[in-house]
This record gives sequence, structure tokens and C-alpha cells, in this order.
Amino acid sequence: YYQLIAGPGETDGGIYGAVLFIIDETDRQSAERLRREFTANVSHELKTPLTSILGYAEIIGNGIADQDDIPELSNKIIEESRRLLKLISDILRLSQLDEMATDEKTEPVDLVGVSKQVVHDLAAKAKKSSVSLSVEGEAAPIQGMATTLYEMIYNLVDNAVAYNRENGSVAVKISEDASETRVAVADTGIGIALADQPRIYERFFRADPSHSKATGGTGLGLSIVKHGAMLHHATIDLDSELGKGTTFTLRFPKMTDAENTGA
Ligand code: ADP
Repeated sequence: YYQLIAGPGETDGGIYGAVLFIIDETDRQSAERLRREFTANVSHELKTPLTSILGYAEIIGNGIADQDDIPELSNKIIEESRRLLKLISDILRLSQLDEMATDEKTEPVDLVGVSKQVVHDLAAKAKKSSVSLSVEGEAAPIQGMATTLYEMIYNLVDNAVAYNRENGSVAVKISEDASETRVAVADTGIGIALADQPRIYERFFRADPSHSKATGGTGLGLSIVKHGAMLHHATIDLDSELGKGTTFTLRFPKMTDAENTGA
């Protein structure tokens, strides 16, 4: 769009220049398009479990269900309701992260402690895989937001467990060098096809929707991780081979003392 600029020395309020903002407008349009797509996806994703819940409840309510089938139908209602709850909390979380700025209040966070907590909290769920944690070097605390960092590591380990094979393993490795602190989550699972890898962080993207549904996935976990990484000036990359496994690596840049103290 055009912006007309009045000259500083003009007494008649005359206009002496115009600036054309093409890039600005294109950004706005694509942000608008993304928002529209997101709203359409959210509606679709929320409708699917709700339609199932309604269907099962109607079968029970109409009295057409066999008495023996009622426990199974009830379980399905519970399962779909849980899915709906998880979806809603992930959508809310993403919109909170969208609102957060990179200069949000930070504190020193011990990534080793956070990772220990994640491994502990997921131990029960990871019945079929073993989850280990190793630390290389000192792994000094980083400047960040503890809750978001917990969520990011939790989502990566949760996926590593969910997309693993039977008796597979998950290794969380924390390491550092002079410039960065790394958290790598490696699994021995199904892997991610090369063609899917660039799309993996998109909201609601699932490489294998039926598998993701079976594991209780919402397609939002990695979007949350990516967003959290951005808020920490960190990067995330993956190395994966189909049928062999996947490693996700978060890299947190080390800050200088001046940056740490906000000087
Ligand atoms: P979901 O809730 O479906 O797991 P995510 O955003 O966490 O959603 O992940 C998006 C998709 O990426 C998943 O549906 C799955 O296809 C794939 N994916 C994520 N992590 C892994 C992994 N460790 N191994 C294999 N596939 C994975």
C-alpha cells in the first residue's frame, strides 16, 4: 500500500513523497492466510472426536446397543473426550506461545534437572521402551523459561516413546561446547520419510495420521517445540532414517555474561 508523507518544512500540508510497502502487505496477506487455514484446521480437528462421542452416546441413549457392548462404547467416549481435552489444551498453549515475546522473563534453568523430570514423568508411559539420560561435560544452566523448556523436552521424549518399536530405546543426551548447549533425543523407532521432514513442525501435520491417532497425538507437539525453541533463540534439527530411528537436537546458543545479566 502507499503511504503519503508530508514534508517537514511544508506549511501548506502539501505532500512531497510516497513510499510503497510491498513486502509489508505480502507478509500481512500470508499471515492472514495462515490464520484462516489454522481456524479451518482447528474446526475440523475438534469436530472429529466430538462427532464420534455424539455417535457412541446416541447408540447407548437409543437403547440399540447390546448390553455387553456398553463398557466398550463408554471407553470409546472416554478416549475421544481425552483426545479432545488434549487438543484444546495444545491449541491454547500454542496461542499463548504466539503471544509471548522473545524477551519474556527468563531465569537460569538447569536442563539436566528438567530432563530428569521429563524422563521420570514419562517412565510409566514408556513401558515398551527404555529411556536413558546422559550428560557430557558440565552442562551449565541456560537462561530460559523453565515451564516451556520442560514442555519442549517432554514433547520430544513423548514422541520418541510413541513412535518407537517394541523394546526400543530412547536416549536423551545433554552436551555443550563453547558456543552452545545441546539436548538430543534419539530413538530407535519408525523414522520420518525425507519427504515429510520439512513439514513435521507444521500445525496438525502428521506423517501417519492413523498411527498418530493411536498414540494420542494431536499434530501440535512439534509446533510447540519449534515455537519454544524460537522463544529461546534456539534451533531444532532432525536426523532420521525410515525404519531405523530419529534424533531431534535442540541447540541453545550460549550467551555472554553481559547478555545474561541484561547489561
Ligand atoms: P503428534 O501429536 O501427532 O505426535 P507432533 O507435532 O508431535 O504430532 O509430530 C508430528 C508428526 O511427526 C507425528 O504425527 C509423526 O508422524 C512425526 N514424528 C514426530 N516425532 C517422531 C519420531 N520421534 N519418530 C517418528 N515420527 C515422528
